[in-house]
Amino acid sequence: MTIRDRYAPSPTGLQHIGGVRTALFNYLFAQSQKGAFLLRLEDTDRTRFDAAFVQNLYDTFTWLGFYWSEGPDRGGPVGPYIQSERLGLYQKHAQALVEKGRAYYCFCSTARLDALREEQAKTHAEETGYDRHCRGLSPSQGAARLAAGEAPVIRLKIPLGETTRFTDALLGSVEWKNDAITPDPVLLKSDGFPTYHLANVVDDHLMGISHVLRAQEWLPSTPLHVIMYQLFGWDHPVFCHLPMVMGQDGKKLSKRHGATSIDEFRRAGYLPEALINYVALLGASYEEGKDLYTLEELCSRFSLDKLSKAPAVFDYKKLGWYNGQYIRMKTDEALAALALPYGVEAGLFGCPGTAPDAAQHRAFSAAMGLIKERVSVLKEIPDKIRYLFAEPPLPPVSEFIPKKRDLPQTIDLLSICRNLVEPLEALSDTQAEAFIKDQAEKAGVKVGDLMMPLRVALTGARVSPPLFGTIRILGTTRSLERIDRALAALQA
Ligand code: GLU
Ligand code: ZN
Repeated sequence: MTIRDRYAPSPTGLQHIGGVRTALFNYLFAQSQKGAFLLRLEDTDRTRFDAAFVQNLYDTFTWLGFYWSEGPDRGGPVGPYIQSERLGLYQKHAQALVEKGRAYYCFCSTARLDALREEQAKTHAEETGYDRHCRGLSPSQGAARLAAGEAPVIRLKIPLGETTRFTDALLGSVEWKNDAITPDPVLLKSDGFPTYHLANVVDDHLMGISHVLRAQEWLPSTPLHVIMYQLFGWDHPVFCHLPMVMGQDGKKLSKRHGATSIDEFRRAGYLPEALINYVALLGASYEEGKDLYTLEELCSRFSLDKLSKAPAVFDYKKLGWYNGQYIRMKTDEALAALALPYGVEAGLFGCPGTAPDAAQHRAFSAAMGLIKERVSVLKEIPDKIRYLFAEPPLPPVSEFIPKKRDLPQTIDLLSICRNLVEPLEALSDTQAEAFIKDQAEKAGVKVGDLMMPLRVALTGARVSPPLFGTIRILGTTRSLERIDRALAALQA
């Protein structure tokens, strides 16, 4: 059997981490089984539909870099892959159930249903929802009212007094008393649009879906779906409900916890490789002791028995760690290309929005080597290297003075450094280290004491990216200017 699975988002919001996890698991499962992964747009909720969300869906996956092999944008043998283009199919199938006596027309007005709901709320009724008022209408009564121009909905006739069972690939056997399912849910609305349940089941069947991997919040809908498959006379796909994604407080991951849309993560400077790697671990584990996986490695390792039943906890810190790892794997040039837009936006090269000139561009690329080990998202980069582009504000004099030293000694130390800058510019890190050690010995001072005033003079702070690299990027002239400015301040 060829495995076919799908991601079936409703374009009613930005793509978020939970949706992407569902899509990724479906992708990985299909890849691992040499099957097909489909995209289907479930866009029948027209009140919440927005074309911008469809665009966001495409942008998100283009950026993440994994795709479906069949979908609205690339076609395929079982299209169209957009539900609003398949209305005729749903109508036909709802009609077929009516003809089999498995569904029926309901002519109840909104006013009647509203009154019913109010009454149930008032009396704290044990059974809520539709009261199956029209379930007993005969086909001829229905036909007559249809002919008279009434616009009914079609409801599923749930077989009462039975229990529905299915085996979830992760959760095992699931049982649901039919009487506890929402009473006779609507399949087709009076405007001819299907509900989620009808469209989802009809499409999974017609599209040959063998496996439904979806978030656990859909589990309560599944007994209803299984009943529909039975009433249609179809086999149902294998269901596998994925563990929930929680915040660290154990509540469902939401905006309260931090970024949730891929757009936000992307803007903050997370890399797609890191997000994919981290999201692939939300509810699954692969190899003991291995954290970093490429998409290819995940494809070959994924299987349903690697899934865990326990909810996955989304840990922003851990994601940051993964992102840092992937930042470190980039060459300076590749990282510079990714980080440049953040530098431009942060006004590193003039006003915000100003592009770098050639010299600034070179400095920016060179600076990547200095900060690679020190950042976890791209957005942190500009502030870490701003001092390379604009003279940093002069810190108070006390910042220059090493521990147990005084101002005159600090002036001496910085004066010694002034003569070391030019030779330093030409040296590699290892050479520079040996050179400074030697010079410190000659001057009878500690290396740390020698470096501290120099660091503050050049970078404006006691803690900064590596100093030798800084000197190579700033160059002798600019370094000397900063030292002189500092000396003037210390001597004032
Ligand atoms: N349209 C549903 C959603 O937004 C699909 C759920 C399912 O996979 O069946 O998630
Ligand atoms: Zn009714």
